[in-house]
Amino acid sequence: MDTLQDALLYINGEMRPSANTQFYDNINPWTGAPCGKAADATADDVEQAISCARTAFDNTDWPTNHEQRYAQVTKFVEALCEARAELVKIARLEAGSAIGAAAMAQVDGALNGAKDYLECYKQLEWKQDRGIKVTMGANTQRYVVREAAGVVGAITPWNVPLYVNIGKVIAALLAGCTVVLKPAPDTPLMGSIMGELAIKAGLPAGVFNVVTSSHPAMAGEMLTTDPRVDLISFTGSTAVGKLIMKNGADTLKRVFLELGGKSAYVVLEDAEDFDMKIMSAMVVFHAGQGCAYPTRLLVPKSRYDHACTLLEMAYGGFAEMWGKFDDESCIMGPLISKKQLGRVHDYVEIGKAEGARLLAGGNLRPDMGDGFFIEPTCFVDCTNDMRIAREEIFGPVLVVIPFEDEEDAIRIANDNDYGLGGAVYGGPESAMRVANAIRAGALSVNGGMGITGDLPFGGYKQSGMGREWGLEGIEEFTEIKAIGVGVPA
Ligand code: NAD
Repeated sequence: MDTLQDALLYINGEMRPSANTQFYDNINPWTGAPCGKAADATADDVEQAISCARTAFDNTDWPTNHEQRYAQVTKFVEALCEARAELVKIARLEAGSAIGAAAMAQVDGALNGAKDYLECYKQLEWKQDRGIKVTMGANTQRYVVREAAGVVGAITPWNVPLYVNIGKVIAALLAGCTVVLKPAPDTPLMGSIMGELAIKAGLPAGVFNVVTSSHPAMAGEMLTTDPRVDLISFTGSTAVGKLIMKNGADTLKRVFLELGGKSAYVVLEDAEDFDMKIMSAMVVFHAGQGCAYPTRLLVPKSRYDHACTLLEMAYGGFAEMWGKFDDESCIMGPLISKKQLGRVHDYVEIGKAEGARLLAGGNLRPDMGDGFFIEPTCFVDCTNDMRIAREEIFGPVLVVIPFEDEEDAIRIANDNDYGLGGAVYGGPESAMRVANAIRAGALSVNGGMGITGDLPFGGYKQSGMGREWGLEGIEEFTEIKAIGVGVPA
């Protein structure tokens, strides 16, 4: 299998190794072997990245020169688009994406999102005229202005690394912030390559910085606690999200959190093409490593046995269609890491112990090599109080739960700590009723896409706070200032 270039740090406009020149292995999930190496940032490197981002924010016109900044970010987006082939290769080798998932979702989804941001930016109102009003005797012309929030710490996960990196970095830069990006230890090059492309695009030194690190927490904790950082935009697990909120409290950091999910896929009695909707519920795309993936299938009790038969067929038909590195149609590869493989397999054992029926999969597949392979897995006869129904597994595991009627489906969908996404299939009215009643940030109704670069995305409940993408995603990186100007009566 191919190899990848070294992932270097990008600090103050330069690509360089870490201060102590240490590297760590960048592991290819398909083989379990290194496909490259990544600079292992020291605390001094992180310190320097923060300091450069602060200086660029405080001492240059980056936050205030909107036209010039827009032109430069546009060039950056163009450079990202020109690097598409390289980005697909990184998604495959570093994030373990199958080709069918790498090009379409991992890379094109991210690049289209970047272009969407450039359009959404044009709707941003930097200054609103709120009119004249006499307040406490003062005749006042009022304005509400938006300003860049400051230095942003962007902390990202490994599952769709380009998508999440772009979701934060392009929005923050467009808003006039300066950024330190800290990618996940498992996907360093997808962050680092953005540094190279920033140089190619002529981005001014210091406005964007990238620190790669083998340590899961060191760089992120420095960003979260440093008073020079104004805002943390974090995507990752709910557990780490809670920690970040706590750690950011002392400096009253603006904290935006895009966290985990356990979304419902509801197929109502009156869904058109019921059989196809059930079979399409398989959790296989990118091995189920998607935060908004609807991994709880809710099926009417009256058609439950039929649904189980359909799923058995669908999983049987898929059994030989995954884990193929060179197959253009393949959409499921390995999990990201040995650790994640162990975690997902533990959940399979938990499901069995809880009394759910294993309809398909569940086995580790060492026969496929040293990569991190586990079979597409489906549990039926689940109840919503089981751990496999309540907790985020983040692997190719579907749990199937029967419901009595529409009201029961809504109750089950909402009976969860998370509220990120969801999909509903049914007649136009019943599907909309259910979608409106589900407490989650992004809903798909009858196959529509509720998640695209020009729509806000984010979680209810413990799936997070704040919104990424769309106009709202850019506004998240701004502060709001009210100005009252005394004028003659
Ligand atoms: P994670 O929470 O383990 O790590 C995410 C990032 O946080 C990594 O860069 C990690 O190095 C860093 N980190 C770890 N400890 C930290 C600390 N104490 N302080 C600061 N940073 C720290 O998550 P993961 O395993 O990389 O990713 C999977 C999780 O991400 C899943 O829960 C998934 O649902 C979630 N996710 C959410 C979204 C969304 O938009 N809601 C998108 C993708 C992934």
